[in-house]
Amino acid sequence: MNIVIVGAGFGGISAAALLAQKGLEVTVIEKNEGPGGRASVYSEGGFTFDMGPSWYLMPDVFENFFAEFNAKPEDFYDLKKLEPAYRVFSTGEGSLMYHLILKRTMNSLTALRRMVVKDSGSTWNQLVNSTTRL
Ligand SMILES: Cc1cc2nc3c(=O)[nH]c(=O)nc-3n(C[C@H](O)[C@H](O)[C@H](O)COP(=O)(O)OP(=O)(O)OC[C@H]3O[C@@H](n4cnc5c(N)ncnc54)[C@H](O)[C@@H]3O)c2cc1C
Repeated sequence: MNIVIVGAGFGGISAAALLAQKGLEVTVIEKNEGPGGRASVYSEGGFTFDMGPSWYLMPDVFENFFAEFNAKPEDFYDLKKLEPAYRVFSTGEGSLMYHLILKRTMNSLTALRRMVVKDSGSTWNQLVNSTTRL
């Protein structure tokens, strides 16, 4: 059976790989110049920008996918923990940092909020406390 998959994002590529593994003839059609979809990158002037995902969420999904082919993610790419994990810059003062330790991220959020909002922050503190409990 011949299968045509429209779109070479994560979904299309992974579906194509699984179907091809079952012995089906698969063609993937992509309208952009390269694969990746929302997970592609944009390069200009020596800089490379993620067009979509930055967070490696649900690693078990990737592990299960590669296991279908008797492989592991580390056969294809290296994962490194970053600290800080993520930093958001704005045109104004300050930046927001996401750390591997949640409490540090909440401290970063609180510090940034103090910079831009001038109230007592009691509602904010309640939110931080309840989020930290989660
Ligand atoms: C800004 C942003 C941040 C994100 N952050 C994260 C994150 O941190 N972690 C995470 O896990 N996920 C994140 N995501 C979500 C993740 O990127 C997507 O869930 C995933 O990439 C979607 O893959 P997909 O294959 O379903 O769709 P897509 O990647 O959208 O792929 C669809 C493909 O189909 C092609 N296509 C569409 N119509 C046609 C047509 N008519 N003919 C030919 N080709 C066509 C498109 O060009 C595209 O390549 C983020 C998404 C965005 C946009």
